[in-house]
Amino acid sequence: MSLDKESTTIQMPSCTNTNESSIPKRRGNLIVVTGPSGVGKGTVVERLMEDVAGIKRSVSATTRTMRPNEKEGVDYFFRTPAEFKRMVDENTFMEWAEFAGNLYGTPKLWVEQQLQAHQDIILEIEVQGAKQIKEKCPDAVLIFLSPPSFTELEARLRRRGTETPERLAQRLKKAEVEMTEKALFQYEVVNDVVEEAVNDLVHIVYSERLRIRCECPGTKD
Ligand code: 5GP
Repeated sequence: MSLDKESTTIQMPSCTNTNESSIPKRRGNLIVVTGPSGVGKGTVVERLMEDVAGIKRSVSATTRTMRPNEKEGVDYFFRTPAEFKRMVDENTFMEWAEFAGNLYGTPKLWVEQQLQAHQDIILEIEVQGAKQIKEKCPDAVLIFLSPPSFTELEARLRRRGTETPERLAQRLKKAEVEMTEKALFQYEVVNDVVEEAVNDLVHIVYSERLRIRCECPGTKD
């Protein structure tokens, strides 16, 4: 996957089945895993992709500084605020949001191409971005990952040790608001025991693959 900084090519996601053959092959599913920072989205998504074939994770762009264990183009496309702003102006993103002082965005063109190629795509994003996807893509599968408790969420964020005390406080404050928004999504998975949360996600992904999504004759009139 690449995210060309210089690119001005813009392709709007249609979020609908545009295949016109008589027996259309379904587009891939756009699966959104959202929830507060520190809840374990990265871990469960990684495990889900080990267990289920045919899912790719979208790599976002961010203005956040790279953590020691992270790689450009694997974890994120790391961009300066000016580069990110230009990408916003060029309509590069399917959604983007400011989170705890940094900007994050999902590359529209790559995701759309993958869905058209019948590939399931998973976005691991915060709640504001997930709400944008809900608006733009009514077919998206929207999953809210909850912590077993707020105390446990705080403990996980502290154990992760990636944030300064100020940034940690910012993320916890944001998490309180995010937890009140879970009813906007279709599924809630509680990430208490990782294996159980992954198992729940596996069931959702397989069920959603069986959902009838294309327009049926006679339903339009
Ligand atoms: P972190 O800085 O811990 O990697 O990510 C902070 C938050 O931003 C997490 O909740 C993560 O899921 C979310 N995030 C990552 N990529 C994107 C994106 O492309 N869009 C949005 N809206 N959120 C993202």
